[in-house]
Amino acid sequence: MAELCRPQNTIAILQKYNFVFQKKYGQNFLIEPRVLEKIIRAADITKEDMVLEIGPGIGSMTQYLCESAKKVFAVEIDKNLIPILKNDTLADYDNVTIIQEDILKMNIGELVEKENNGRPIKIVANLPYYITTPIIMTIFENNVPVENVTVMVQKEVADRMQTGPGTKDYGALSLAVQYYAKPEIVANVPPNCFIPRPNISSAVIRLTRHKKCPVCVEDEKMMFRIIRAAFNQRRKTLQNSICNAQDLSFTKLQIVEVLQKMDLLLTVRGETLSLEQFAEFTNFLIENR
Ligand code: SAM
Repeated sequence: MAELCRPQNTIAILQKYNFVFQKKYGQNFLIEPRVLEKIIRAADITKEDMVLEIGPGIGSMTQYLCESAKKVFAVEIDKNLIPILKNDTLADYDNVTIIQEDILKMNIGELVEKENNGRPIKIVANLPYYITTPIIMTIFENNVPVENVTVMVQKEVADRMQTGPGTKDYGALSLAVQYYAKPEIVANVPPNCFIPRPNISSAVIRLTRHKKCPVCVEDEKMMFRIIRAAFNQRRKTLQNSICNAQDLSFTKLQIVEVLQKMDLLLTVRGETLSLEQFAEFTNFLIENR
């Protein structure tokens, strides 16, 4: 396989098609084969797998995926990249389907049902940073059958996904991701691995979907409303944050009773609670209503 991701090969393709980078689509193409190899290894792709790639760009990673997977679906929003993928860089592969679409408008669950009989797929992407959180949360919240999601994201976002209570990065995103999956940062990627160079550092994170939820919570939506309220007013006590939240209707007394039941200080802040404690707090609040 000629390594398309080598800088000179990427530049040759871009020049051949007079390609103009579109900032609005977060286009930073990977030009470091070692990083691509790490992504493929981390995603644990086999010849049995259906893989969805979000934003193939000129197809550097897609070529690797086509070599390793049974079939690949590559969803690219930029019309100008489609001829490059179809007529050039992916023309030799018969196990890839290129779809010109905005991934945020696609029903991924339907695609998995139709193309993989509903069996879990693997998702791989060097994500444009503006869609990182919406796409990951859409996949998990809509219960798309997925085994793992291996994505390049902003380093800071990867840290937020992986961290636990008591750190400055811990927040609603950490809890949401960890409720659905086990996060592991598998590589740190400096700006010089991309063309054009972004002005931030990146990281590859693998999110392995839990087979069974790690906590028992009666009302998932309620728990996430409580979590959001707790971190919206991060420096406030948990009882004040919950009491002040517009979309929650618990009284101070109900909250205090639950904190006491859980042996937590009345001055405790949400940022110190683990996922298990948020689940317990939610269950007790519902019970105590
Ligand atoms: N995978 C390529 C690589 O690693 O070199 C390109 C990665 S680049 C960071 C992000 C890609 O996602 C671009 O090709 C961009 O056009 C595409 N993209 C941006 N927004 C998208 C969306 N909403 N749906 C699908 N593709 C999108």
